[in-house]
Amino acid sequence: VLGAGAPAWLEKDRRYVWHGMVTYAAAQNPMAIVEGDGAWVVDAEGRRYLDAMSGLWCVNLGYSQPRLAEAAHRQLTTMPYYPLTNTHLPAIQLAEKLSDWLGAEYRVFFSNSGSEANEVAFKIARQYHAQRGEPNRWKILSRYRAYHGNTMGALAASGQFERKYRYEPLAPGFVHVPPPDCYRCPFGRTPSTCALECAAHIDDVMRWEFDDTIAAVILEPVITGGGVLVPPDGYLQKVKEICHRHGALMIVDEVICGFGRTGARFGHQRFGVQPDIVTMAKGITSGYLPLAATAVRADLFDEAFARDEDYAHLRHVNTFGGHPAACAVALATLDIMEAEGFVDRARHLGEVLAAELQRLRGIQVVGDIRTFGLLAGIELVEDRETKAPASASLTAQVVSECRKRGVIVGKTGDTTPGGNNVITLCPPFVVSEEELRHIVHVLEEALQAVV
Ligand code: PMP
Repeated sequence: VLGAGAPAWLEKDRRYVWHGMVTYAAAQNPMAIVEGDGAWVVDAEGRRYLDAMSGLWCVNLGYSQPRLAEAAHRQLTTMPYYPLTNTHLPAIQLAEKLSDWLGAEYRVFFSNSGSEANEVAFKIARQYHAQRGEPNRWKILSRYRAYHGNTMGALAASGQFERKYRYEPLAPGFVHVPPPDCYRCPFGRTPSTCALECAAHIDDVMRWEFDDTIAAVILEPVITGGGVLVPPDGYLQKVKEICHRHGALMIVDEVICGFGRTGARFGHQRFGVQPDIVTMAKGITSGYLPLAATAVRADLFDEAFARDEDYAHLRHVNTFGGHPAACAVALATLDIMEAEGFVDRARHLGEVLAAELQRLRGIQVVGDIRTFGLLAGIELVEDRETKAPASASLTAQVVSECRKRGVIVGKTGDTTPGGNNVITLCPPFVVSEEELRHIVHVLEEALQAVV
């Protein structure tokens, strides 16, 4: 711990590093985090914080899992690197394990980040159709408010203009539809009058775009970074059925929802759908090393690429994708999750969190509380009747009040100016029930401090 000299680190940071999503405004300064333990992190000034965001939705197993560090060390001292233009055992073992977790046989391509995993999904979806004689199927449908990554394609798929602003033009061929947002239904419905219009709209859009131009739909089971939007029952099944009917593939982005976050191994399993393509990152190594994966259902893959001459058309390569040490850490992550029942634990903690959060409904600025597994969004409003969103500055103030009290919470939303009004909780699965209650207690105090 660096003590009183610590602010100097932020000066150096400002001089030598640049970041996205950081502000140097008062009380929002980036923290220089120097160590972690369980669900807690410590900054360079020795302040301890209970991390209710698991880093950036990654560190599901917390900051002190020696087995993950040992797995990396063992692999790095045995065979530190070899590319997957050949193959190696950690990648093979992990790919087999992922099929097991996905409940069906998939063929897996490894990369390093969620953005890349989604790029791979778009490319393989297009190539799949081209191999089958439909090269015009190149458009990707996605939802407003979703985030799928920072690269030109994954950002084009994202429905958050804030992130695209001043980076356009992005990759062409991406079509957006409204998200399932049961608090502010874009189709004017309420939960009791809902007939899944948001899913049915996808059917219309596919017809309007000429369905033989659509390669795939990409969606998260629950929109996370866009404000924790939990779809109505039946939504995912209906989208799957629409994709199937129009000959488009369904890509499910499990970058945040995967690996236990929703109280199931994967978020889509809670909705009873089997995706054509699944993308994964973050929690796959519990954030200990960079790794991502794109899994294609085996029957679809084989339909297009089973013959050697077709397989030879696969041209996508990646230097560090499937790094042996990252695969070894991922295998250890999944082992720990199985041995210690972390998926069930996340589900149970999610129930505790949901129950605790209910008492925030009494606070005037709280418009809606959405939870799904160990994930929560608390939408702040100026007025409960009109649902006018609370200002971005009020939401930022809540985040900063929590931080002053030693708890790190997130802020998401529809990302239009003034729309970042959802306080977001995504704590690590090692958090105790008492710590969860403390998070909610601090959030309650922070909300009361700003109203
Ligand atoms: N998909 C989702 C749902 C995400 O939340 C993110 C990152 N927050 C990504 C993809 C991109 O992942 P990465 O930052 O690892 O590229």
